[in-house]
Amino acid sequence: MSGNVSVPIVIIGAGQAGLSVAYYLRRFDLVAGRDFIIFDRGPDTGGAWQHRWQALQLGSAHRVNDLPGMKELGLSFDTADRNLPARDVVADYYREYEQHFELKVVRPVTVTSVLSTPPHLVVETSSAIFGDQKTDADLIVNATGTWGAPFVPHYPGAGTFAGTQVHTANYVSSEAFAGQRVVVVGGGTSAIGFLLELEGVASTLTWVSRRPIDFSHTDELAEVTAVAAVMKQDRAARAGRALPSIVSGTGVPVTRRIAAGIDRGILVARPMFASIEPTGVRWSDGTFTGADVIVWASGFRPELRHLGPLKLREKAGGVSVGSGASGTDSRVFFAGYGPQASTIGANRAGRSIARQLMAKL
Ligand SMILES: Cc1cc2nc3c(=O)[nH]c(=O)nc-3n(C[C@H](O)[C@H](O)[C@H](O)COP(=O)(O)OP(=O)(O)OC[C@H]3O[C@@H](n4cnc5c(N)ncnc54)[C@H](O)[C@@H]3O)c2cc1C
Repeated sequence: MSGNVSVPIVIIGAGQAGLSVAYYLRRFDLVAGRDFIIFDRGPDTGGAWQHRWQALQLGSAHRVNDLPGMKELGLSFDTADRNLPARDVVADYYREYEQHFELKVVRPVTVTSVLSTPPHLVVETSSAIFGDQKTDADLIVNATGTWGAPFVPHYPGAGTFAGTQVHTANYVSSEAFAGQRVVVVGGGTSAIGFLLELEGVASTLTWVSRRPIDFSHTDELAEVTAVAAVMKQDRAARAGRALPSIVSGTGVPVTRRIAAGIDRGILVARPMFASIEPTGVRWSDGTFTGADVIVWASGFRPELRHLGPLKLREKAGGVSVGSGASGTDSRVFFAGYGPQASTIGANRAGRSIARQLMAKL
């Protein structure tokens, strides 16, 4: 006996994906705290949403899908006030959800590493409140999302920049950049959201993207490309390759707000700069644009550092995951990874993973 707390299933992360798995485990009559434990490092409910910037309203995010069973509480993001900050609405709804379904999320607890001591997995955690602890588990579900692993591509001179560099993960509000010359990097909806917020606030705005922006104009096309993008993610996950960017597969759906931004000339992206200098960016033709701020809306990577000791990383650069199950270690599941990385994908994953867990208990 190790003397550690022991539980059949540990879920790491209480965002959409982790909560969805927990909901389906409850439907199988499993009890939180006895049959499974959810650890989350966030101080509050809402998963990554609790950290998103104030100005991101529910109406300007992509569609946020309801958690399974949320109707039972009379809640739906579809009928929520679209002008409210998305982070507040999601945190409030998830709080009610966790209480209603008695999910007993243990927070703030950071999973620092997961080790294999067959037949168990040992989940090591650290918390200002609970201290350092170890939990033996038969199975784990990793549902840690991407928010904690911001990605910034390398450009020569980045370290010499004398102004401010901020990533989506640390962006607070446009007011911080009032009157400043801002360069926004990225080809997705976060970059577009920042540009629209900064219009009229920054003194100059420059948008750059590594690939041309693929604005998609019809819902039908958006649906077809979204399915293709999910399949592309699935192929990469099954093959253990690093995941391709979602936006490279789906394009950017043109809402009325975005169409108006294009018409005003705000949403016109240039190809990437060649290098960064202390006071601005240098283009490949040798010309220069002065900048005080670079906003990196350049995406995130799956957060998997704590799984390092399990040696799941493949030579191809990613982890091998098919239908939410690790292809390398049959005790490990991934919820919200790759093809499941959206609020709708995370929901579907919940049911499928819960069924697979039940089959193994
Ligand atoms: C800027 C941005 C905007 C987005 N907008 C949308 C949108 O509008 N619609 C949409 O469908 N999707 C959107 N997404 C995709 C988004 O990832 C999903 O909506 C959803 O948040 C994913 O849920 P998740 O549970 O997988 O991850 P998360 O919501 O990130 O939850 C992961 C949880 O794991 C916890 N965690 C992480 N590491 C540890 C650890 N080591 N120990 C303990 N806990 C840990 C975190 O605290 C967090 O609570 C967006 C993503 C980004 C980055």
